Amino acid sequence: MSSQFFSQDNDVMNVDSGSQESQVEVLKEDFICNLHCIQGKTINLATPHDYYMALAYTVRDRLLDHRLNTSSRYRKHQAKTVYYLSAEFLMGRQLSNNLLNLGIYDDTVEALTQLGLNLQDLVVLEAEPGLGNGGLGRLAACFLDSLATLSLPAIGYGIRYEFGIFDQLIINGVQIERPDKWLRYGNPWEVYRPEASVRVKFGGYTEFHPDESGQMHVRWIGDREITGTPYDTPVPGYQNQTVNRLRLWRAYATEELDFAQFDRGDYIGAVSDKIFSENISKVLYPNDNTYQGKQLRLEQQYFFVSCSLQDIINRYRRQYENFDHFHEKVAIQLNDTHPSIGVAELMRLLVDEYNLGWNRAWYITKHVFAYTNHTLLSEALETWPVSLFESLLPRHLEIIYEINQRFLNEIRSRYPGDLDRLSRMSLVQEDPEKKIRMAHLSCVGSYCINGVAQLHTDLLKAQVLPDFHDYWPQKVQNKTNGITPRRWLLLSNPQLSKLISSKIGQDWITDLDQLRGIEPYADDPEFQQEWQQIKYDHKVALAEHILLFNDLEVNPDSLFDIQVKRMHEYKRQLLNVLHIITLYYRIKQNPGLNLVPRTFIFAGKAAPGYFMAKMVIQLINAVARVVNHDPEVGDRLKVVFLAGYSVSLGQKIYPAADLSEQISMAGKEASGTGNMKFALNGAVTIGTLDGANIEIREEVGEENFFLFGLTASQAQALKAKGYDPKSYYHWNRELKMVMDGMAKREFSPENPELFQPIIDSLLDRDEYLLFADYADYINCQERVSQAYQDRASWTRKSILNTARIGKFSSDRAIAEYARDIWHIHPVYSS
Ligand SMILES: *Cc1c(COP(=O)(O)O)cnc(C)c1O
Repeated sequence: MSSQFFSQDNDVMNVDSGSQESQVEVLKEDFICNLHCIQGKTINLATPHDYYMALAYTVRDRLLDHRLNTSSRYRKHQAKTVYYLSAEFLMGRQLSNNLLNLGIYDDTVEALTQLGLNLQDLVVLEAEPGLGNGGLGRLAACFLDSLATLSLPAIGYGIRYEFGIFDQLIINGVQIERPDKWLRYGNPWEVYRPEASVRVKFGGYTEFHPDESGQMHVRWIGDREITGTPYDTPVPGYQNQTVNRLRLWRAYATEELDFAQFDRGDYIGAVSDKIFSENISKVLYPNDNTYQGKQLRLEQQYFFVSCSLQDIINRYRRQYENFDHFHEKVAIQLNDTHPSIGVAELMRLLVDEYNLGWNRAWYITKHVFAYTNHTLLSEALETWPVSLFESLLPRHLEIIYEINQRFLNEIRSRYPGDLDRLSRMSLVQEDPEKKIRMAHLSCVGSYCINGVAQLHTDLLKAQVLPDFHDYWPQKVQNKTNGITPRRWLLLSNPQLSKLISSKIGQDWITDLDQLRGIEPYADDPEFQQEWQQIKYDHKVALAEHILLFNDLEVNPDSLFDIQVKRMHEYKRQLLNVLHIITLYYRIKQNPGLNLVPRTFIFAGKAAPGYFMAKMVIQLINAVARVVNHDPEVGDRLKVVFLAGYSVSLGQKIYPAADLSEQISMAGKEASGTGNMKFALNGAVTIGTLDGANIEIREEVGEENFFLFGLTASQAQALKAKGYDPKSYYHWNRELKMVMDGMAKREFSPENPELFQPIIDSLLDRDEYLLFADYADYINCQERVSQAYQDRASWTRKSILNTARIGKFSSDRAIAEYARDIWHIHPVYSS
């Protein structure tokens, strides 16, 4: 990695940096000191991991220093703070990002070099904190980066899962899951804060009791109690002296209860109860975009939400004596419905613990919460059985019933006689089982609801929450997602960053719209040549990865056609496979066919219980085995499935892509953010009019985007009139051949039935309209191949994708949330 690049030339932001030379000296000294004092090693005896830890602590010291200053600055300004509640934070590796944001990247490279060490060798030793499934958790991480970069007072709150998203192995083409032991060697980035622990109750019953004045109050007598202890991870902004934090809660057994049990002589029982309590923060549920109604999951949600709200209140009360200013100083964002029990929990804390009247507590609550909806899929909507609430959170159930009664009274007086509407809007679903609708609780308890791309927000208003939109026409807003340019360009693609900066300077790093400044070079042969070379180098690096991990040689001159994201039927990886098999049969039927060589690259985890998603992984690997080893195919087609998709792997993959596959069925992908990372790195998109693809196409220009497929409304209309996938099968000769090939044991010689479930699901239902979009997709891919052959024109498209993607910076997204929803302001370091 190039030196003299990551730090600003005129390092005005780094007031404490001193001269270059002394900074390097100080880094060396601190590193050696940490190696001695924390790792207990001399430089000669230390292992690479010792070096990594010593360096991490050296960086952490600097972060904590800024953290203290940031904290006192916020306190002094009595700044309103946003608290971002999310069950997932998919942060990615911390070391190089922190060096970059602190502005000490180059000096650290130099310090290590002088000690005979190489930074990249240490960076890869960090276990990725995979505390999220996919887009939702990664969004939370990008948002934290932008909040800090914009100097906005913010804390992220979540769960410190002991096991994050599972490790994915591919064995004989099949996904195997292994526990993610990311804490095995310790986590140098977190700071343990036992003094800030809080307690959380579960179960039991409620009772009424009068106070001195005879006023009735509710007391909740839980039957279990757990201690939540925070671990803080510093989150630095980009070279701005601001360091915010991510506070993650870990569940511990509350000791007093254990002692009682010990005293009764039940030693084993006490210890196993302890283990039981600590299960709460043990493991991340590995479902993406699907709800799993497990008790432990609701326990996790309530646990981290209750800890966080208690913490927020404790912080507030250190500065204010009553709750009059609470909603002026606190905004709480609910990242999906996962933390939505917070609405009932804040009511409980205010009414039961702080003795506020219901109306006052409700006023505060609905002026504090805002809710982000992340999905249109009905299977992802959380509804918890009333019976589960009764046993786990009896007081919250009472509160939700009370909120509901008052809410339905309002609806009744606004829409007299409209009983259907009442049952549609109720927080309680009656049939087939009595359940609490968490999305409705979120809507009623929040002052703002947002979707994550324009189409998604439009569909929310029209189809998912039409009654709520009708009742509160101002409440639903759009906030199109974004990604942080620091991690997803500067860090993952320093070569392209450097080329861009050589033309337009470095301000684009915190003002991504400035990338428009490279548009004038889109046709410049010299610039194009450098652009192509950088893309090529990333393809070579990815090819090396593929050789190492998949034992397959791929040609970096071929078109790298990439689809990486969670495996899900609606994302239609299977449509991509149908295209590959189509090309394969074209070659088999016409061995001399002149095809633009392509390397198809997939990566993504399937939820362990998602049969179809796992079957698609198996199909991709089965097709790969046939296609990659058919001498008749040769170099024209290669198919790769990379195991263990993660943020770190993504940082290798996005810069190496020529073509970005964003082919979900229109109306299903709320936004997508992978689409933005690809385009930022100069990949051209083939995609449907879904999620943020629509806005990406508007920005980059339709001539720089390969569009195909039905629109969301066409897709709905087709389904409404009765969709018959078999008719497409019978009418499209190629499609029939592809499907028959899959059935005729072509890709599963030793098990002819293997892929029957895929075939059946397509021919019988084809829920996601693959057949309806097949012909247009195949045609569109032909246009891609043709366009790719004209190098200059393709490179122009690539450059313009990068140049015009500025809107999709998470800095823009966060500035909009801050202005339109949170009403918070930056607190700059002077
Ligand atoms: C960006 C990202 C995602 C989201 O990708 P989509 O294509 O938007 O679904 C998922 N996982 C990881 C690791 C990511 O970095």
